[in-house]
Amino acid sequence: MGSLLSKPGASAIDTKQPPLHVSIIGAGIGGLALAIALNKQNVPYTIYESAGAYATVGAGVGIGPNAMRAMDMIDKRFRGKYDAVAIGNLTPGKEHVMMEAYLLEEGLGARQGWLGKPWGSPAYTRTAAHRKTLLDIMTSFIPESTVKFNKQVAGIKQLRDKVELTFTDGETIETSAVIGCDGIKGASRRYVLGSRYPDEVLAKYNNQYAYRAIIRMSEAREVLGDLANDAKMYFGRGINLSTYVISEGQEINVVGFVRDPEPWPYDDKVTREVTREKMVADFTAQNIDPRLLKLLDWAKPVQWAMSHHPKTSTYQNGLVCLLGDSAHATLPNQAAGAGQCLEDALILSRLLGRVGATVGSKPAQCDVSSELNAAFEAYESVRRPRAQKQIETSVECGKVYSLMHPDIGTDMNKTVKNLNSRFDWLWKHDLDADVKLAEDRYAELVAMKD
Ligand SMILES: Cc1cc2nc3c(=O)[nH]c(=O)nc-3n(C[C@H](O)[C@H](O)[C@H](O)COP(=O)(O)OP(=O)(O)OC[C@H]3O[C@@H](n4cnc5c(N)ncnc54)[C@H](O)[C@@H]3O)c2cc1C
Repeated sequence: MGSLLSKPGASAIDTKQPPLHVSIIGAGIGGLALAIALNKQNVPYTIYESAGAYATVGAGVGIGPNAMRAMDMIDKRFRGKYDAVAIGNLTPGKEHVMMEAYLLEEGLGARQGWLGKPWGSPAYTRTAAHRKTLLDIMTSFIPESTVKFNKQVAGIKQLRDKVELTFTDGETIETSAVIGCDGIKGASRRYVLGSRYPDEVLAKYNNQYAYRAIIRMSEAREVLGDLANDAKMYFGRGINLSTYVISEGQEINVVGFVRDPEPWPYDDKVTREVTREKMVADFTAQNIDPRLLKLLDWAKPVQWAMSHHPKTSTYQNGLVCLLGDSAHATLPNQAAGAGQCLEDALILSRLLGRVGATVGSKPAQCDVSSELNAAFEAYESVRRPRAQKQIETSVECGKVYSLMHPDIGTDMNKTVKNLNSRFDWLWKHDLDADVKLAEDRYAELVAMKD
C-alpha cells in the first residue's frame, strides 16, 4: 500500500497515514487549488513548499468565466469568497469588455481617429483581484497541519507502488502519489519528461520581457484620468502595455511587454534588474504617450522573462503527475494561466476522489497505484489538449497585441475584430462535460485493468 511514512532515521511526519495519501509539491495557485479541491473530495494530502511562507507577490490576476466556474465546482465557498473581492471595469455597461484598444504612441491614437474600441464577449464578465488577496482566500481553506514550509524537493524516485521524495534538508518520505505543482521550472517536470522528452523539459524564452507596477487608483487617475477606470491595452509595434483595475477598485495593475531579439541570459532566473534609464528607453523608442511613460515611475526596473512550454508530450510518469505551470506554463496574453491551474485541480481532484472512494470501500483488494495511473491518464486525456490550445493561442494573441501578426499587422480594426473572435472557446467551455469525460475515461481504464 502506498502510505506516506518517513524513512528510518528521519523525523516522522505522520505514521497514521491512510492507504491513499497525495503529496503536492508547491503552494502556488495550482497546488492550493488542488488542496482545496481534495479537501472537498476527502482525499488526504500534504503540501511541500520550498519557501518559508505563502507567496506575497504583488501583482494583479484576471480570472475568466471558465476559471470562475472551476472555482465554483471545486468549492462554492471558494467562488463566493472570490466574488466578494473581484472587481471588473468601473464604468457601468462595460461588464463584458475584456479590454479597450488604444495606441501606445503619443495621443493614444486620437489623431488617427482611433477612439479605443472594446473587445470581449457576452460570455465574458471582467473580473480581477490582487494576487495576494486571491492567495489569502485560497490559503484560508488549507488546514495548517497539511502544509510543510521550507521543504524543497531535491529528488523524486519511483518505487514499486509508491514514490520516494527527498528534500534538501535530508529528509526522505514515501507517498502514494506526487502532484508536481512546482511551477515553470519545477523539478517534477524534469522527472516526468527528462528521460523520454528531454527537449521539452526547459521552458522556452519567447524573446519578450515585461515590467510590472501596481498604482493606487487616486494616483493613476491623476495621470490617466478616466482611462484608469477600465481595462486597456495600448498597442505599439513590438511593445504593448495593459492596465486593469484590481484591489476592489483601489489600485490598477500595469504590465508593459517588450519584444527582445536577444536570448535570455539565465537558465535559473526569471527576472533581471536593469537601470531605470534602460527601462524608460525601451518605451521612448516607440514615441510612447507621456501619460503611459509616467506610469513607469511606479514600476521597478526589473524585467520578467516571458517563457512558456510550447510542447509537453505527457503530464505523467508512473505515480508522478504535473499540474499548473509545471505542466503547461503559458505566456500571459489571454490571462488564462491561473485559470488553467483551476481547471486542472477540478478534474484531477474529482478523479482522485474516485480513487479515494474505491480505496475506502475495498482497501484490502484495491491496487492503489493502478487506480492512480488510471486517474492520471484520464486527467491528461481531458486537460492536455485544452491547455495546449491555450498555450498556442496565447502565442498568437501576443503577436496581435504587439502588432506583429502576419495577417493583421498594424490594422487596428482588424486587430479588434480578431480579438473579439478569439476567446469564446476558452471562456464558454463546458467543465461539467470535462468532468464527465474524465470520469468515464477513468472507469474505462479501470475496467480494462481489472
Ligand atoms: C506577467 C504575468 C501575468 C499573469 N497574469 C495572469 C492573469 O491575469 N490570469 C491568469 O489566469 N494567469 C496569469 N498568469 C499566469 C499565472 O500567474 C500562473 O499560471 C500561475 O500562477 C501558476 O501557478 P502554479 O501554482 O502552477 O506555479 P507557481 O505560482 O510558480 O507556484 C509554484 C510553487 O512551487 C514551489 N516550488 C518550486 N520548486 C519547488 C521544490 N523543488 N520543492 C518545493 N516547492 C517548490 C514554489 O516556491 C512556488 O510556491 C500571469 C503570469 C505572468 C508571468
